Amino acid sequence: QEVAISQHLGGPNARLVGKPCSLPELTTPALVLDLETFERNIRAYQHQVNLHGLQARPHAKSHKCAEIAQRQIAAGAVGVCAASLHEAEALVRHGINNILITSPVIGAGKLDRLLQLLDHGVSVAVVVDDQERAASMAAAAHQSGHVLDVLIDVDLGMGRTGVSNIESALQLVNVVCDAEGISYRGIQAYSGSVQHIEDFAARDRIYTGQLRFLSGLIAALDKRGLKPATVSGGGTGTLALDCREGILTEHQAGSYIFMDVEYGAVTLRANDDDARFATSLFLHSTVISKNVPGTATIDAGLKSFATDGPLPRVSNGAPAGTTYAFFGDEHGRLTFPTPTHSLPLGSIVAFVTPHCDPTVNLHDYLHIVRNDTIVDIWQIVGRGVL
Ligand code: PLP
Ligand code: MN
Repeated sequence: QEVAISQHLGGPNARLVGKPCSLPELTTPALVLDLETFERNIRAYQHQVNLHGLQARPHAKSHKCAEIAQRQIAAGAVGVCAASLHEAEALVRHGINNILITSPVIGAGKLDRLLQLLDHGVSVAVVVDDQERAASMAAAAHQSGHVLDVLIDVDLGMGRTGVSNIESALQLVNVVCDAEGISYRGIQAYSGSVQHIEDFAARDRIYTGQLRFLSGLIAALDKRGLKPATVSGGGTGTLALDCREGILTEHQAGSYIFMDVEYGAVTLRANDDDARFATSLFLHSTVISKNVPGTATIDAGLKSFATDGPLPRVSNGAPAGTTYAFFGDEHGRLTFPTPTHSLPLGSIVAFVTPHCDPTVNLHDYLHIVRNDTIVDIWQIVGRGVL
């Protein structure tokens, strides 16, 4: 006989929801979302894109969470982006009905699943960057009785996905326009390599060069009667530039809702009208050992934080100047500013997440907090990659 142990929806902290409880009662390692800051970030983003006549299609790769997508759409977004079919499926299952998949969907099994998504009567668009794949996708869609909306993926210089010259783009648009089963909706042009350039002027210089190529491409399409109805792209790091340049029609920022350590170092605003984003996402951990003077061992290590970015930064619960180091799969080490500092066992230490997207992907739940009270728990339904 199966016995359910702590498998109830919401995880081990579900019992705390709605009760006047303080954060230190949380079972850790737990992701905590400060609701007011998060809501302010969403409003500020929407306000800025509205001001510049862009549509918002925020990227759900950062949160993988239907409740967040709902709030972005309620604030005025036309829909959300998903990085993978996996994320798109999870969001559709949880009621999100307008999604752009921002990477090519390749493989017979995935193509089947993509077409099945359309059976749900939702609007799902996908990018393509290859003529043959576009043609075979069109044939499969046509056979299933669907018409799949398609954006041509354009490479702005990163070399990851997309077509990288005007000639290939024109050819691909023609393939898409000629095929039954898919419909040409425009282009996607996302520059991942510039988002985290910390200095605004340096980012401006490189990205503006990339955008010049993009406007040349749009002009070439326009000349042939193929002007893209949608030009989708941009991230948190280029928001101010995207608003200034007015080439994109649709904006895909993701991390702005959370603001991790990585983005904390990036100068985002060009002037006072630009949105101000603040950190809303934290990881709470517990001190589990304190036998080495000047240090403490906590329950958050490689399985709690993404490891590609900067180190997690202590935000609360430890003396100023305390630093974090990875200390194994399940452990982190805090080093205090002086050897006489210490923290009691069971203390909660909160961190700003190093790189939000891959950190969120490690967790099942977001603990939603208002005024130090847990008001809800949202499931990270799109975690995983399959
Ligand atoms: N669009 C695409 C295609 C992306 O891959 C990403 C992030 O990697 C974004 C938008 C969002 O970027 P950011 O999280 O920097 O706002
Ligand atoms: Mn990222």
